[in-house]
Amino acid sequence: MRYIPQVLSHRSDRDDWSTRHSVLATARRTAALVNVLAEDLPDPAAVAEVLRDHGETGPLDLTADEVAAMRAAAAMLRPVFAAEHADEAAAALNHLLREHTGPLRLTSHAGTTPWHPHLDRDDDAPWGVWLLTSSCMALTVLVWDRQQPPGRICASSACDAVFIARGSGPERRYCSRRCATRERVAAHRRARTAGGPGEGRRSPEVGAVPAENQL
Ligand SMILES: [Zn+2]
Repeated sequence: MRYIPQVLSHRSDRDDWSTRHSVLATARRTAALVNVLAEDLPDPAAVAEVLRDHGETGPLDLTADEVAAMRAAAAMLRPVFAAEHADEAAAALNHLLREHTGPLRLTSHAGTTPWHPHLDRDDDAPWGVWLLTSSCMALTVLVWDRQQPPGRICASSACDAVFIARGSGPERRYCSRRCATRERVAAHRRARTAGGPGEGRRSPEVGAVPAENQL
């Protein structure tokens, strides 16, 4: 379950499947789900939309109980995103791997997908287990690959969204351009207030630095 059955006779199908289910794609799906599930009462339709945005097809009639189980899994994953260093991320993941996942196994979903690793005990695991185990799998590989925390929580005090770190280059601090812009404007106002009249004229213009460099 949870994977789209594919006819494997065409190489392009396999490539497409691999792209949609790559480690990074899975980790980004985790971040998007952790964010949509952060609401007190997440809308099942909104959760289904995030799943579809990340490659799920077919009927996604999530029940309130299934969404509640996914929300509990998302809360358990948040400490991995809060980790400041690789060893903290590894400790958070090791806790989840020890207490909440099955042993590593390979599955091809009865020959309908390429072989890939799973940490759940059953291909038909419920949605909450699926979210926790598929996320642990991807985040664990990212820590292995990058020797850094796999993601972060937005640095804006008005936002608690999580996102997957780039893994190279200057680290982004904010989940989105919107948060980066809001924080930059607020910092500019604070600097002007602290500096008194005239200070604003000597400060760099808000927007002088392209937003994408500040993300
Ligand atoms: Zn944010």
